[in-house]
Amino acid sequence: MTKITISDYSIEKVLEYSENRDPDQPEFQQAVREVMNSVIPFVNENEKYQFPGLIERLIEPERAIMFRVPWEDDQGNYQVNRGFRVQFNSALGPYKGGLRFNPHVNLGVIKFLAFEQIFKNSLTGLPLGGGKGGSDFNPRGKSEAEIMRFCQSFMNELYRYISGDMDVPAGDIGVGEREVGFLFGQYKRLTAQFTGVLTGKGLAYGGSKLRPQATGYGLLYFVREMLKHTSASIEGKTVVISGSGNVALFACEKAIDLGAKVIALSDSDGFIYDKNGINEEKLEYLMELKIERRGRIKEYADEFYCEFHKGKPWELPCDIALPCATQNEIEEHDALHLIKNEVTCVAEGANMPCTDKAMKLLYRSGINYAPGKASNAGGVAVSGLEMTQNAKRLSWSIESVDKNLVEIMRTIHEKCLEYGQESSGVDYLNGANIAGFIKVADAMIAQGHV
Ligand code: NDP
Repeated sequence: MTKITISDYSIEKVLEYSENRDPDQPEFQQAVREVMNSVIPFVNENEKYQFPGLIERLIEPERAIMFRVPWEDDQGNYQVNRGFRVQFNSALGPYKGGLRFNPHVNLGVIKFLAFEQIFKNSLTGLPLGGGKGGSDFNPRGKSEAEIMRFCQSFMNELYRYISGDMDVPAGDIGVGEREVGFLFGQYKRLTAQFTGVLTGKGLAYGGSKLRPQATGYGLLYFVREMLKHTSASIEGKTVVISGSGNVALFACEKAIDLGAKVIALSDSDGFIYDKNGINEEKLEYLMELKIERRGRIKEYADEFYCEFHKGKPWELPCDIALPCATQNEIEEHDALHLIKNEVTCVAEGANMPCTDKAMKLLYRSGINYAPGKASNAGGVAVSGLEMTQNAKRLSWSIESVDKNLVEIMRTIHEKCLEYGQESSGVDYLNGANIAGFIKVADAMIAQGHV
């Protein structure tokens, strides 16, 4: 096994070390590469961070739990899925990060998400470590009873490893308020404790106001800061959004609220192109369609007589592109379309939605590009506020949570400027990575070689 010594902290050495350890985890290696490209040059310029073993510890999870999830479907067949919880870094606080239920989930995907979460959580300024979990369970087409049985079985194992002071999961792809409710119910049943062990809970039993909206709203608050920095405004801009889940729909709502025109949304079947723009009434239909009924986005095109296409929406001309579906959804050719159409801002609602090559292309062409760990941090930030409200047994008003969210996104933007301002513009990726790293590294150094 290659060893890294402080004298040769080079990006190549660190990536070689990481790839040799987990060659079969491409998404995790991509996330490591993305962070190390910013962090290693910074470490080489700052002696304080040339601390033995720091980088090796940073890219090694404190704990990775894998478990069997047996459950019974409605036909009485026995099914077995695989569950994961990666507790990556607790230097800043209890592990915090969502649960993803999606057939593409494997250990490498959960490790990439947990790794990203460390820096994102650090940027929020809240005392949150980084973790993530999930299962290769596919919720699509499952009945509510099947979802409940699966969630209960998942929690039958996970409950041993989580608690309000140890690890506080939330939702992610395939896990919304309904699933969090089933998971919370089973945790309470197993432990006989009513604690804030999950966030994203329903309002009736300890959830925070504005948690469902937080990632999407936070994304738009961040975009507003980016535009303000170049003396521009969201008003009147044309926006294309991918996805039509939690993040995408609330990003759409806030974009409309701020005066933008949203012309596209998508799901895994394709995208709708509504030339006239999605208005409040159409958005209400979409919320019912995608959140309540769990239908397909194509139904929107049938209802409002607009275009539906297979594939991704990145060929549509727009000013602002907001990828809010999944990882690596903007590839090189998609980035080329965005550049050709003179998009001015790409901000990530999803985690790692741009491939390495796409990101480099966007950056080189001078497009204002924001990485998810900065621009989608609003969700975990309000989860952090939910933990505080639960600990105090209080419930804050929408206005109060929204004010906090606006301020947190503004502060994250400032941190990106502090470490990412260059003569040619702002390198938000460097800014977010370095600002996120500094706080975690300081805490890790102070806590010793653990
Ligand atoms: P949801 O499950 O609510 O929605 C996901 C959306 O993306 C759905 O419209 C889904 O389509 C679509 N999608 C999923 N996989 C693919 C794919 N392979 N190709 C095309 N479309 C796809 O998830 P969220 O909105 O919660 O999460 C979206 C992204 O945002 C993820 O990357 C997540 O990690 C990230 N994120 C989420 C946060 C949150 O608070 N929820 C916080 C920060 C980041 P379909 O309906 O067909 O399944």
